[in-house]
Amino acid sequence: MLRERVTEDVYVFISQLYAEVSATVVITPEGAVIVDTLPFPQETRQVREFALERCPAGIRYVILTHHHADHIYGSYLFPEAELISHRMTRETLLKVGAESLAQAKGQTPALASVELRIPQLVFETDLLLRLGEKTIHLMHAPGHAPDAIMAHLREDKVLVASDVVTPVPLIVRGNAEELSRSLRLIKALNLENVVQGHGGVLLRGEIDETVDSSIGYLRCIDRKVRTIVERGQPRSALAEIDIEACGKSRIPLGGLVQRLHQANLEFLYGEIQQESQAAA
Ligand SMILES: [Zn+2]
Repeated sequence: MLRERVTEDVYVFISQLYAEVSATVVITPEGAVIVDTLPFPQETRQVREFALERCPAGIRYVILTHHHADHIYGSYLFPEAELISHRMTRETLLKVGAESLAQAKGQTPALASVELRIPQLVFETDLLLRLGEKTIHLMHAPGHAPDAIMAHLREDKVLVASDVVTPVPLIVRGNAEELSRSLRLIKALNLENVVQGHGGVLLRGEIDETVDSSIGYLRCIDRKVRTIVERGQPRSALAEIDIEACGKSRIPLGGLVQRLHQANLEFLYGEIQQESQAAA
């Protein structure tokens, strides 16, 4: 696992076991706040040890940015902390959390000890959390997932954007228009760093460019998939839509972005086909 010091009080941990997913630790004199956990217990345990070392006051809150397994499976390792999430994260976990965890355990023995924890403290549009002279503004930022939130660490000028910002935006079971709106929110903030859900930390000079290219990418794949559907071409025609022609590199996350891109195209194809059938 990699650890990066973003500011004096903000540390980001990046998994080397799963898709460079990130967890953030915010240190305050009144305790630590963790934003997202890592999927494999052996890595989240290191995050916990680090936070306890730096924070004699203990770990107060764990914020879950959305219900996806790679961000939440470590939350059981912080039993003393209050879990915070969007209302829909709680509802989704209550509905399908136990079943998907059982499935994941069947496929991945390293998850055997994971227990599902359900957030009790939930919000709708935004929530202001104050602890030890830090202000953490949690805001609903749907698109990647309907329940996605971002955490703005105001004094540190850091945005923990989670999967709103990744090397290639992923919209499967999400909504591209909503994601573009959430991305635009970021440009209005005066930020030094953005912590991506996967792939590490962006510096000030990279933020606008990454946000703009993500919005451009979403517009580009929508246009290209729409053309294929309108021409009545089969799904196999999606293979012609090149990730780089839509302004994103195929290299990050060890090449995983290429698979995310394919998944986006498949998802959009289904959505647009349904739309045009409904209109006909
Ligand atoms: Zn996700």
